[in-house]
Amino acid sequence: MDCSPVISDKERVRRLVSLPGVKPERVARLRDTTVAIVGVGGIGQAAAQHLVAQGVGRIILIDPDRVEAHNLSRQILLTPPMVGQFKVDAAAERLWELSPTVQIEQRRDQLDEANVDALLQEAAIVLDGVDLGQPREVLNRYAMRSGKPVFFAGATGYEAQVFGVHGGQPCLTCLFGSVADVEDDCAATGVLGPVVGMAGLVQAQEVLKWVLQVGQSLVGRLWQWDGFSGSTRIIAIPSRTDCPVCSPAHPQ
Ligand SMILES: [Zn+2]
Repeated sequence: MDCSPVISDKERVRRLVSLPGVKPERVARLRDTTVAIVGVGGIGQAAAQHLVAQGVGRIILIDPDRVEAHNLSRQILLTPPMVGQFKVDAAAERLWELSPTVQIEQRRDQLDEANVDALLQEAAIVLDGVDLGQPREVLNRYAMRSGKPVFFAGATGYEAQVFGVHGGQPCLTCLFGSVADVEDDCAATGVLGPVVGMAGLVQAQEVLKWVLQVGQSLVGRLWQWDGFSGSTRIIAIPSRTDCPVCSPAHPQ
């Protein structure tokens, strides 16, 4: 018999409803919101942890990888006995501990052009936590044609970045050009664990702002965190008129 107390939805959002500008009817939508997290590493796990704790009702976890021992330094949902398990299963186990009523769907898939529509069909908002350029390009094109917001994030060394893409706004290609061949090479450059978490926390913050309709979104704006100096900056990104993804002159 499980005698652990169950936290009610009301308790979970008690501190939210007191925030300036937050309407109760928007808070109620959190329970009906589905967020897909593509890449369940340090960034995705930090985002998932806060979204579930705050009362988001459904999370789709997408990642083909298994837990490796070195992941435990920055992937905060994982514990040593989980080494060898699929990351989506290990993360789901911990998220259910945080909130037994949350719905978690685990997909052991590598996102690509062929499966992206099916994998993300039920998601209202998408978070990128992958470490490869190819799936990011797939997600960028998906954001343009689906009309759903996608919040991209990356962390390497002491630096973290988050950038939101939504239809009609500048896209990831406007910002970086093609990233198809880019890989986050944390193995070579190293990365500070909390910097990874910062990126995921900002993603979770953007999801909550989006659902609650408060604050200024990071859609079209690049958030950069320099952990070495402790400084933050935000840069408004212009649309590129010659962008092959989002420019009306270059339809997909
Ligand atoms: Zn673009």
